[in-house]
Amino acid sequence: MSEDFYLEQTKEMILSVASRCRKCNYCYGVCPLYQSTRGFQVQGPSGILQAMAYAIKWDLIDGKNGNDLREIMYSCTTCNSCTLRCKASCTGIPVLDAIEKGRALLIEEMIGPVTEQKKVLESLALKGNSYDMPSQKRLDWLKDLQEERGIRVRLLPDGQPVDVLLYVGCTAAYNEDVKDIARAMIAILRASGMDYGVLKEEKCCGSPARRIGEEGLFEEMSDYMAERVNAVKPRRIVTLSPHCYNTFVNEYPELSAGVKIQHYTQFLEDLIGEGRLEIPEKLGQTVTYHDPCYLSKKNSVTREPREVLKCLLEEDHFVEMAHNGSDSLCCGGGGGRIFWDPEETNRLSETRIREAMAVGADMLVTVCPWCRIELEDAVKTLDVEDKVQVMDMAVLISEAMGADAF
Ligand code: SF4
Ligand code: SF4
Repeated sequence: MSEDFYLEQTKEMILSVASRCRKCNYCYGVCPLYQSTRGFQVQGPSGILQAMAYAIKWDLIDGKNGNDLREIMYSCTTCNSCTLRCKASCTGIPVLDAIEKGRALLIEEMIGPVTEQKKVLESLALKGNSYDMPSQKRLDWLKDLQEERGIRVRLLPDGQPVDVLLYVGCTAAYNEDVKDIARAMIAILRASGMDYGVLKEEKCCGSPARRIGEEGLFEEMSDYMAERVNAVKPRRIVTLSPHCYNTFVNEYPELSAGVKIQHYTQFLEDLIGEGRLEIPEKLGQTVTYHDPCYLSKKNSVTREPREVLKCLLEEDHFVEMAHNGSDSLCCGGGGGRIFWDPEETNRLSETRIREAMAVGADMLVTVCPWCRIELEDAVKTLDVEDKVQVMDMAVLISEAMGADAF
């Protein structure tokens, strides 16, 4: 496809979606971005859409308007609430798809993304991860398991078939604060007796590139990863991040048909149901669950994490927050925002922590490395570390398994 044709198609798509918007503004009521600022400085969903459409119509994508447009388009967390709301209450236009196309257009016009995200794109292109880390260090999270505990994990492909391919993702592989999620999954896989392995040459699935709007880079990265996964031929892929899960499920047509793709909570539910995983210690705390948008609002995965969590808790120790399931509140880290910090009157992650405390939870469990980073940070900035704790579900399970974990 020629570049001109691609640009024309992108513009037409945005204009077509914007023309079907009835400007009823129902979507504003669910947009975390709009709520975080109460309309100060940034727009809500249909406002973002119309800003982009008018910029196309009146030829305003230029140096003069670029800064404003960039700020408007990149503030969105891509939580998908607007699309769900529009479908439920009005015309059902794909608001988020059009916003993401708008970002792709800004990249083509050299106006997007924000500076911090430019560095992420460079790192993805050169090093295969979003954190500017050497690719040779991607498997360091496994080192102490191998060196201190003598645990051997299959590095794939190794010429043999495998049941579970554990796709770790950049954040759990490189970020010291959340590497324990990857290690916890190894403990669970070992305890369950599953045949599993990790990729020798894992790279980012490409999700940050697509969310930021760098379509060409996304295609390069997804081609690379699909080729690696297809060479392994696993029966299923289990991801630690809801973002990788969403990408593999919805954005990887190149993956061989028949491979089952699961977020780790879906896999855990299977293990428990098959009697492969027993959780001996039950938690006595009052616990609530934070739905990551890329599970709940993008892929309707809300039941499985709750089922697993209930197996971990003493009876009646689970409480729901006011916003839950597909009506959950966003932590603020999606859509490439984990890499920069847009100004907000009310930080989204802090609002979520307040909501957890309001229902009396002393533990907030999540199943996304980015949500955990955002929410743990909010607990510190709100100075409520002694009141509410943020935990990852896989880590909780491996802790409950105690000495049997490895
Ligand atoms: S709910 Fe849909 S139709 Fe109404 S303003 Fe939002 S995007 Fe437009
Ligand atoms: S995706 Fe979420 S943050 Fe972005 S405009 Fe829609 S509701 Fe607002």
